[in-house]
Amino acid sequence: MMTVTLGVSISLWRKRDPLAKYFFLGHAMFIIFNMLAVLYYKGITESNQINSHGVGIGIVLEALMMAFILSYRIRTLEKIKSAQSELKRLADTDPLTKLYNRRYFDKACSQLLAKSKTAKKELSIVIADLDFFKGINDTYGHDIGDRVIIEFANILTKQQKVDDIACRFGGEEFILLLNCDADNAKIIAQRIRSTAEKCIVKTENNQEVRFTVSIGINQVSQTANNIKESISLADQALYKAKKQGRNCVVVIKE
Ligand code: GH3
Ligand code: MG
Ligand code: MG
Repeated sequence: MMTVTLGVSISLWRKRDPLAKYFFLGHAMFIIFNMLAVLYYKGITESNQINSHGVGIGIVLEALMMAFILSYRIRTLEKIKSAQSELKRLADTDPLTKLYNRRYFDKACSQLLAKSKTAKKELSIVIADLDFFKGINDTYGHDIGDRVIIEFANILTKQQKVDDIACRFGGEEFILLLNCDADNAKIIAQRIRSTAEKCIVKTENNQEVRFTVSIGINQVSQTANNIKESISLADQALYKAKKQGRNCVVVIKE
C-alpha cells in the first residue's frame, strides 16, 4: 500500500502536480510517527503518549492529508466541469445577441426534426432580415446598428416558446424553428414584425432610430429528411417579402 501511494506521489511530482508535496508530506508524517512507535517498542526511545501511539497518529495524519487531497481534486474537477459547460455555451451562442448561432441551429434542428416526426407535429422555418440595415449603419454608426440587432434579438426571444429555436444566422439575418404549422408561424411572425416596427432605439443625442423587418416562412414537410429544403423555401419567401416592399411576412407553401 505504501509502495503504491509512494509511486503515485513520485509520478505526480514528475508531472509537477502541486498536490505531490502534500502526498509526500502525508507519507513523511506516516513514516516519522511509525518510526517513533517502532523505536518505542524496541525500548530505544522514551515512553510518552506520542511514541506509544505513533502508528495511530501516523495513520490519522496521512488519512487527513489524503482527505484534503481528495477534496482539492473534487473541487478542481468541478471547476473543469463548469469551465467546459461555459465553453460549450460560448461555442453555441452568438456573442452580440446571446442567441444560438448557426452551428447550434444545424445540430438542434436535426434532433427536433426527428422528434417532431415521431410525435407527428408540425415545424416551421421562419427567416427574418432587417430592412435597409446598411442605411442604419451608415446614418447612425455601427454601434447603433449593433443595438438594433440586440433589440431585435430580444423581440425574438420574447416570442419564442419552449422547444422553439431562435438563432442569429449571420449579420442582420435571423432564423427560427417553431413548433407549429405555417398559419400559426405567420401569426407569430406578424407579432414579431409589428413589435419591431414599434421599437425605438435612442442614440446618445436622443435621436430615435426605428427599424422594420421582412420575414419569410415555410412549413417543414413531414417527409423531409433534413431542414435544408425548408430553409431554402423560407429564404425564397423572404426574397418575395423584400420585393413586395419589405416590412411584411410571406409564406411559401409546398
Ligand atoms: P435589405 O432590406 O435588402 O435587407 O437591405 P440591407 O441594407 O439590410 O441589406 P444588406 O445585406 O445590404 O446589409 C446588411 C448590412 O448589415 C451590411 C453589414 O455591414 C451589416 N452588418 C452585418 N453584421 C453586422 C453587425 O454585427 N453589426 C452591424 N452594426 N452591422 C452588421
Ligand atoms: Mg437586411
Ligand atoms: Mg441580410
